Amino acid sequence: MSVALDVRDEELAGWGLAQSARCQVAYPESSAAIADLFAEAGRAGQTIALRGAGCSSGDAALNAGALVLDCSRMNRILAWDAKSGQITVEPGVTIAQFWRHTLPDGWWPSVVPGTSEVTVGGAAAMQIHGKNNWHAGAFGDSVLAFDLLLPSGETLTCSREHNSDLFSGAFGGMGLLGAFTALTLQARRVHSGNVWEITTAHHSLDTLIAALEEATTWATDLVAWVDTSGRGKRLGRGLLKASRDLAPDEDAHPELTRTVDYQLGRKSLAARLPKGWLPRLARPLTSPAGVWLSNRGQWMSGQGIRQRRSHLSTYVGANFPLDAIPGWRDSYRPRGLMQHQSMVPTQAASATFRQILDRSRQAGLTPSFAVLKKHRASHEPLGCLVDGYSLALDYPIRRGQEPQVRALLGTLNDMVADAGGRIYFAKDSTLTPAQTRRLYGDEALEDFRVLKEQCDPKRLLSTDLYQRAIAPLFGA
Ligand SMILES: Cc1cc2nc3c(=O)[nH]c(=O)nc-3n(C[C@H](O)[C@H](O)[C@H](O)COP(=O)(O)OP(=O)(O)OC[C@H]3O[C@@H](n4cnc5c(N)ncnc54)[C@H](O)[C@@H]3O)c2cc1C
Repeated sequence: MSVALDVRDEELAGWGLAQSARCQVAYPESSAAIADLFAEAGRAGQTIALRGAGCSSGDAALNAGALVLDCSRMNRILAWDAKSGQITVEPGVTIAQFWRHTLPDGWWPSVVPGTSEVTVGGAAAMQIHGKNNWHAGAFGDSVLAFDLLLPSGETLTCSREHNSDLFSGAFGGMGLLGAFTALTLQARRVHSGNVWEITTAHHSLDTLIAALEEATTWATDLVAWVDTSGRGKRLGRGLLKASRDLAPDEDAHPELTRTVDYQLGRKSLAARLPKGWLPRLARPLTSPAGVWLSNRGQWMSGQGIRQRRSHLSTYVGANFPLDAIPGWRDSYRPRGLMQHQSMVPTQAASATFRQILDRSRQAGLTPSFAVLKKHRASHEPLGCLVDGYSLALDYPIRRGQEPQVRALLGTLNDMVADAGGRIYFAKDSTLTPAQTRRLYGDEALEDFRVLKEQCDPKRLLSTDLYQRAIAPLFGA
């Protein structure tokens, strides 16, 4: 490429490490640089994928043999209003940067995923959800406006009032319509840097789901960890972690608890280990026996008295527990892991999730980690959220087993389609075009195709995920 920007030949991987691709990677620092790259790639007949922090587990931010624009250097906070809680950021700003900037003033991002490493651009493009999805909606619900740079070089400002079709379609649009170059978001008011948290143990999937439903009447955030070692009547048993925000008068020192130092104060034991130790120590836990043992251990530890009492936890501790274990995914090296997250309507959820757990066990591929959440539907064309629940699963890839894992996940995709559910693209590695059609339906796909045609008629924007699971449905 002849643009002034450096373009490097790099091997990029999805977060799960099981998928990677050789790409030409550029690190633009401004919208003008992205526009130049769009123009240059258009002339050269190349495709471009956008990338944030690379936290999508499969191939959503890969583009084998072609260009990837890593937006992580576009990470400036452009405006902050501590009175209204409105913030304007470049797309590469991470959720960690966001909360560090706003929490001292009493505001927390309205929707956060399980790690603070993701970028705002990547979160919007995947229409991510948090543990408050059932009442707060998805990431896009907290966005007031954004600028989208189209492959033509034109920038459209979109909001609920202006360019509203594009405003809705770009959430979950997976970076296939244009590049977010600035986003204005509404944060949510918080009166402390702490939340009340309580963990309760439930002996079957049905009692776990019932407890989760009951907690929706008072909790702010809900997430259930599912014990994948449970069988028979115990299949799907798990621990429900519920938390709620403090009321205005519950924290005597909010100016202290909302500081960055307080939030990051206590380092976990794992974070204090010398670099590289944790993956080495944890690697045995990814073997079949290790998966059984770690799940059983987690279940037992959930019976502890401290968990069962309501206690205070920081926002960071409650929302990003995995960030406190640096480098934990390295324990899955060298082959990595594949993830699978299905969203299933309420009435079919319990039976489908039981089937999924059973089928995995029968295949000898018990997931190492399983998480259940409650959701509400969102209506953008390729949005996966339904009124119901999701089950997110991690499958370690062991020597020679990738084909079996892929076959299993393919079967699970069909089960979810049979149940009227959806698969979350951010965690997907195996959807085929036929499965995408069954899961999303012709109408939604046609709506997205029309938007794609309007925004990107020359099909400049692409990813390996798009080529694998969607593009073949749109024809030549
Ligand atoms: C430990 C962990 C926990 C997670 N927990 C959750 C969770 O609780 N809920 C949830 O919903 N997800 C969760 N995820 C998934 C994650 O939130 C999504 O994959 C998210 O999209 C990753 O953001 P990213 O910045 O890494 O983007 P990437 O993964 O790099 O890219 C994601 C998509 O965004 C597009 N994109 C990136 N930048 C731009 C831009 N500037 N303009 C337009 N498109 C762009 C890319 O093309 C790609 O399609 C989790 C991931 C991890 C690793």
